[in-house]
Amino acid sequence: MFGLMQDWPLLCHRIIDHAATQHAGRQIISRSVEGPIHKTTYAELRARALRVSQRLDREGIRLGDRVATLAWNTWRHMECWYGILGIGAIYHTVNPRLFPDQIAWIVNDAQDRILLTDLTFVPLLESLAGKLPTIESYVVLTDAAHMPKTTLKNAVAYEDWIASVDGDFAFLDLDENTAAGMCYTSGTTGHPKGVVYSHRSNVLHSMMASTADAMGVSSRDVVMPVVPMFHANCWGMALTGPMNGATMVMPGPRMDGASIYELLNDYRVTCTAAVPTVWLMLLQHLESTGSTLPYLDRVVIGGSACPRAMTKKFQENYGVDVIHAWGMTEMSPLGSLCTLKPEYVDLDGEGRLDIQSKQGHPPFGVEMKITDDGGRNLPWDGKTFGRLKVRGPSVARAYFKDEGGSILDEEGFFDTGDVATIDRYGYMQITDRSKDVIKSGGEWISSIDLENLAVGHPKVAEAAVIGVRHPKWDERPLLVIVLKKGETAGKNELLAFMEGKIAKWWMPDDVVFVDEIPHTATGKIQKTALRDRFKDYVLPTAEAAE
Ligand code: AMP
Repeated sequence: MFGLMQDWPLLCHRIIDHAATQHAGRQIISRSVEGPIHKTTYAELRARALRVSQRLDREGIRLGDRVATLAWNTWRHMECWYGILGIGAIYHTVNPRLFPDQIAWIVNDAQDRILLTDLTFVPLLESLAGKLPTIESYVVLTDAAHMPKTTLKNAVAYEDWIASVDGDFAFLDLDENTAAGMCYTSGTTGHPKGVVYSHRSNVLHSMMASTADAMGVSSRDVVMPVVPMFHANCWGMALTGPMNGATMVMPGPRMDGASIYELLNDYRVTCTAAVPTVWLMLLQHLESTGSTLPYLDRVVIGGSACPRAMTKKFQENYGVDVIHAWGMTEMSPLGSLCTLKPEYVDLDGEGRLDIQSKQGHPPFGVEMKITDDGGRNLPWDGKTFGRLKVRGPSVARAYFKDEGGSILDEEGFFDTGDVATIDRYGYMQITDRSKDVIKSGGEWISSIDLENLAVGHPKVAEAAVIGVRHPKWDERPLLVIVLKKGETAGKNELLAFMEGKIAKWWMPDDVVFVDEIPHTATGKIQKTALRDRFKDYVLPTAEAAE
């Protein structure tokens, strides 16, 4: 016998319907790309999202079509998300920090039909347009007054674009399993892979993220997602905020310490989230100006491990609670948050910081296990570490176009590629990652790409790239080189060889020459041994950042 409850599909646009009905006047405050602060409300945002839907519909965008966005966190970007998914099309967030050729590859793989871009990226797109045959038109997220002269095909200013329809339109009724959003993740091997979120997974993920032991978002909160909407689904915050009727503050293109502080303070933000690099810049700003954070209640820190000193500073110097969080694009992205269960809540000082160094426990909707290489479950003793695997309604079951084939084990768990311990109270801690990507400011640099490039130099016998700790960017690449017998070369010669072939920020911060690179039994470079050897290595750029 089935239950006798209503069939009410979990659709993302119901979130903005709810916000506009229950929290109509609540504000979305953005730093616009043009400069000034812009304010709107949920009621207005929904009305304009409907215009986006109507305009896309008029252009022939249909169920399952991909619409790309290359944009910062602003009210316009939010309108676009809801407008796109409201007709069953898919918002595809493109990360502008990728190397241009990767952007082209991703847009082509997704077969995006329309590209909505901020002013910032118009020159980039003009240089790439010849490589983007699937794009039928470009919408520049600005008004006529700021619209640049551009060679982009069928380019139109967003404000004109949505003004050309009357907004008399309704979001579509869809199956809750319809695709809503898409985000590519760059692995260590092969091409980037597309993760495809559904309406249902996004709604359930937002409910999970809202719970008191996760981010605990309410209508009394002022929420500022500093994590970009193009990074891992914005940690769900562009959906979680409206779901709970929170006031939203969107930081636009400026993420430096002073700009973030200005928004935190002027708009009394209570809850914010970003990678450690952003918070490092904020803390430096606070220290150099003697400012305080009287309104901020909690800061969610993830994307890479939150340094203990950062947690300590936020909590002890500024009275702001740190919630260490872990997740990944494939998980929508939240996997665990380090809020304190009764077993740990009375801890203080170093004992509390020990627990907060862990990545925390999963909310309802994420199941975890750790296994050995043979898939056998390992104990939850806080010491034994193994492959971290996850299962749940907002975890990917396959990649777009089935890239990489089957990604689940026989119990339906997805291997995260991370290595972790889990303690007896269910707190997970990442100890290593099976991937060797370098995390710089929350973005990934592929060590393999750099190695492949470096070994292309005629004097190089072997190259390895590892991430070395950096006070500002978390990690930066260190290039380790073995020269061919009898050859001599300096750092500058190698760097000059690589320059122009990769994104500027992918360039190694330093080069060291060694006689030999350690290998595993199967002939692979032993990254762990290299990391051990260079664990105290001080990059020249690190000294400058301190
Ligand atoms: P992404 O899909 O770009 O969000 O990257 C996901 C990966 O980032 C995870 O698989 C982890 O390796 C890493 N990661 C995310 N959060 C944390 C954290 N709090 N501590 C350590 N690593 C993290």
